[in-house]
Order: sequence, then C-alpha cells, then structure tokens
Amino acid sequence: MNHTRFLSLLLVLLLLTSCGTTPAQEETSTIFAMDTIMQLSVYGKNGQEALEQASAYIWQLESLLSTTNTGSEIYAANQSAGKPVALSDDTAALLRRSLELCRETDGALDISIYPVICAWGFPTDEYRVPEETELSSLLDRVDYTQIRLEDHTLTLPAGMEIDLGAVAKGYTGDRIMDLFRNSGLSSALISLGGNIQALGAKTDGTPWRVAVLSPEGDGYAGVLEVEDRAVITSGGYERYFEQDGQTYWHIIDPDTGRPAESGLVSVTIVSESGVLGDALSTALFVMGKDRAVRFWRERTDFDFVLIDKEGTVTISEGIADSFSLYEDWQDHKLEVISR
Ligand code: AMP
Ligand code: MG
Repeated sequence: MNHTRFLSLLLVLLLLTSCGTTPAQEETSTIFAMDTIMQLSVYGKNGQEALEQASAYIWQLESLLSTTNTGSEIYAANQSAGKPVALSDDTAALLRRSLELCRETDGALDISIYPVICAWGFPTDEYRVPEETELSSLLDRVDYTQIRLEDHTLTLPAGMEIDLGAVAKGYTGDRIMDLFRNSGLSSALISLGGNIQALGAKTDGTPWRVAVLSPEGDGYAGVLEVEDRAVITSGGYERYFEQDGQTYWHIIDPDTGRPAESGLVSVTIVSESGVLGDALSTALFVMGKDRAVRFWRERTDFDFVLIDKEGTVTISEGIADSFSLYEDWQDHKLEVISR
C-alpha cells in the first residue's frame, strides 16, 4: 500500500469521527502491525487499559500468524515438510474457521495459495509476472482440501504453504471486539488497514458512518451507517504493481493462479463477524458479481457493496437503507439486489 492510501485510510477515520457530536472520553491508538496501519478508538471508562491490551494482543497474533516472521506458527507449518505442527488456540481457531470458509466458497478462498502469491512477488515487493508453466506447476501445490487439522495439530502435505492474509485482520478485529466488550466498553471503532469494525453505536446513540473508498483513486464511493458490524473491503487498488501497461493486483484466482479478473474492482462485506467479512470480501472478489449474488442468496449472514470496473455500485437489499453514494459518486449507477 502506498503512502497516499495510508493517508486516505486515516482520513476515513477522520470522516467517521468528525460527524455528529464529539464523543466523551475518547481514547485512540495507532499502531503499525500485520503490514498495515491500525487505528483503534474507544469511548468510556477503562478505555486506555483496553487499548493497551488490544495492542498487545495484535502483536501476539501477528507473531503467530505472519508468513514471513521466522518465529511464527504459520512459518513453522510452511517449513514442516509434511510433519505435524502444534498450534496455539488462536491459530487453530482461525485455521478451522478459514478451512470452513474455503469449503463454503468452493475454493474461491484458498489459504494454500501462498506459493502463487510469492511467485508474483507480493510478500517481498519484488514484483514479477510468472510464466504460465511456472504458475501451473505451483497450482499443483494449491489445494485446501489436503490440509489436515485435528484439534491443535496441523499437517500440511510436503511443499504446501499457507497464508492467512485474507482472514487474519478480520479474526483480529473479532478478538479485539471481544476484549473491548469484556472490558465493559460499549462504543468503539477500529480500522485494521481499512477493515472497519464497530462496537455498538457512537456515544450519542447515532450509528457510525463508515466510508467505502473509491477504487478509482483518492476519495470515497459511498458511506454506510452501521452499529455492531464489521465493514470489510478487498480492493484491487489496495496492493498492486504495473508492468507493460497492465495492472496486477494481490487477489489471486486459485483456478488460474493469476490476479482475479472477475469484473469487480472492490468488494465490501457488512457482517457481524469480522473473519466472515474478511474471508468473503476476498472470495467474492474472485467470484465476480453473478456468482457473488447467487452465493449471497443462499445465506443470511452478510450484505455486500460490489463496485465493478465500469463504476457501477451493486448492493444487497439488507443495507439499502443504510448505504448512500458519496458526493462525487452521485452520478454512478446504483443497483439494489433483492432475495
Ligand atoms: P484481502 O485484502 O483480505 O482481500 O486479502 C488479500 C490477501 O490474501 C493477499 O494479499 C494474499 O496474501 C491472500 N490471497 C490472495 N488471493 C487469495 C485467495 N484467493 N484465497 C486466499 N487468500 C488469498
Ligand atoms: Mg479478506
């Protein structure tokens, strides 16, 4: 993510907190973790202590889940050469839920995609366009159905490598919301690299206003009013490189090993669960609009904002009353999908 985008994310938070009356007893904290900027804002008593605990928890999760930190459990699993690896409660819980979501999305989410992600150079920023033959041989190692998780023991086939980058921030947000609730807080807003999670409403009782970034550059496409929800976006614009006039982004279609070209450029999921929203934002980006709409019709646990490359905005009916196009986006087409 470039610096302009970081600034934009900070501005999203400013937009959110500057609307309505200034809440009492606000405590905020900004940290850099999981390769992104995280902003936490809490309101009410015990806020400072809760923020300190939340930061410590984020560092702990990062140290368990990072693919590049040589002390992490995921790093150990990726080096395990077919041998079983013992996992902590958090890693085991996230992995179990991730595997369910890989199945539910029929492999649009596939956490074993890591060798392909590496071939494109995303973890190191040493970008390159791999040859088709290289991609097809790497795809032989991508198959989440071969991951064995029994209680706290993970066994990967030799050569398989996993990456929880598509789900880790959503899981982290869920755990922080639990921590805030257990600290007696009833109003908080966090942005984990643009993944927004809201606890309760603002202290004046009105909903949080959360911006959906414009995929076309700076600024916003829309605004959502939410309470007690995760608002999680996957965008092609979040991490990408350009070569020979082509843009290559970090969301990979596990069927092709290439950046997903589904016609969508941004997918926002609104859900109670952060890990669900995070998994589905990535998976629906891969699925494309038609398959995403069919998938949504089979479930009741999320709503969506899809933006396609023509700039059309498609939302599900559950958020029709809480979503509006942002000022500069008023002339874009807005379509509401019903059940
Ligand atoms: P997100 O920003 O949540 O959409 O997650 C994107 C990150 O997830 C990428 O940077 C990769 O590390 C990883 N990733 C990309 N494509 C997939 C996929 N189809 N399934 C699982 N993880 C993916
Ligand atoms: Mg995701």
